[in-house]
Amino acid sequence: PSPAGQPDVLVVGGGIGGLGAAFALSRRGLAVRVLERAPEFGEVGAGLQIAPNCTRILAEYGLLDEARALGVVPENMVMRDALDARELTRLDLADLERRYGFPYLVIHRSDLHGILLRACERAGVELLTDHTVTGYENTDAGALVRLADGTAQEAPLVVAADGLHSVARRDLIGDAVVSSDYVAYRAAVPIERVRDHGVAERDVTVYVGPRCHFVQYALRGGEMFNQVAVFESPKALAGRDDWGTPDELDAAFEGTCDTVRRGIPLMWRDRWWQMLDRDPVETWVHGRIALLGDAAHPPLQYMAQGAIMAIEDGWTLARHHARQAEAAPEGAAPDWDAVVAAYEAVRVEHCRRVQTTARAWGELWHLDGEDRLRRNAIMRERDPYDYAFTDWVYGPTALTPEEEPPMFTPVPLASAHLGDERDAAGL
Ligand code: FAD
Repeated sequence: PSPAGQPDVLVVGGGIGGLGAAFALSRRGLAVRVLERAPEFGEVGAGLQIAPNCTRILAEYGLLDEARALGVVPENMVMRDALDARELTRLDLADLERRYGFPYLVIHRSDLHGILLRACERAGVELLTDHTVTGYENTDAGALVRLADGTAQEAPLVVAADGLHSVARRDLIGDAVVSSDYVAYRAAVPIERVRDHGVAERDVTVYVGPRCHFVQYALRGGEMFNQVAVFESPKALAGRDDWGTPDELDAAFEGTCDTVRRGIPLMWRDRWWQMLDRDPVETWVHGRIALLGDAAHPPLQYMAQGAIMAIEDGWTLARHHARQAEAAPEGAAPDWDAVVAAYEAVRVEHCRRVQTTARAWGELWHLDGEDRLRRNAIMRERDPYDYAFTDWVYGPTALTPEEEPPMFTPVPLASAHLGDERDAAGL
């Protein structure tokens, strides 16, 4: 038994990943403590897309109704060319829900974070703010974290969910973040402000263009409209530190279609997000310290799976805890080493696939010239009801490497028929 007052699990970081893991593990009857460095729990940013591989888990947690009530279930996901606005391909999200059994939702980040926070409170998770972790160490009985105030805390398992700039990642792996030289601007505005922009209020629309893209969808029951503008920064390419500034935003979208251009002045200009990720690594578990969420696998956001992968991580840890508990002799504690080994065995490869696909996706979206036309030709030929490219992500979260579905193999650009595209583009 743990010493008095010591939790079974310490979770560092109270973002979506940390809270998701804390809730999942508390449902196993474990005593969980979350250490968050900020003075309050919260999320910055605007909208978040949550695909069926996440809503499936929220349903299991009993949280899907709340998510549905606070979010929006869009009708379609439509991809358009950002220059000429023509439709390239779409997903019918009602049909997608039938296929995967769970909806595709869009929700404000702070609403999803709030749902997880309230679930943790109800489950009795100990939630501590103003706790900054500065170091990690394995011990005989588990692992300990050192805090900025000079104290230390110990538990049989420490989950490091401290995000892209993770201290645990720095100490245990020591790799650097990778800059894509792209930057994101976000905004959520009252829907009235975009009503005459030609927007599709019931769809998620992604406009893909040369070195830029633009995402739009409604939030909060349709009262708000979320927009994300992403572009390659010339200042970043020139090696400058102050890259991604608002003057670059305006220039990047100059040649785009009307609906996109009209959205740009509404973007928040006091804050932007440089698009960084890390190369995948094979080891997330170091003794009893397990990396989770962006600390383990920060992606570029083009697959919209970052927060989802973090939630899947926590669910997987808890499921393997359950398996080990069933296998343990009566009264004995589950084998934490086996739990984290099983977690790492399945999650590392899945997240590697998502991270590398997100990078490739970004390249495909941002093509120019003939390659843009090739991409458009291939996308336009796609059957909207062909789910080969979503099955490996939106299906049930695998618990073992054997359950992980095969990856989608994209059609090579070189195979595209360019004739029609050239005509359509007036070339
Ligand atoms: P974080 O949210 O970074 O949380 C880390 C937490 O740890 C923070 O609360 C932080 O304060 C705390 N912390 C950090 N250091 C310490 C410390 N030393 N001690 C104590 N606490 C600490 N994902 C999706 O699934 N769908 C989307 O549509 C989507 N869109 C995106 C759009 C953009 C523009 C971006 C940038 C990302 C998007 N993502 C999306 C990705 C998603 O936002 C992240 O993957 C996800 O939020 C990661 O959650 P996390 O809890 O692992 O990390």
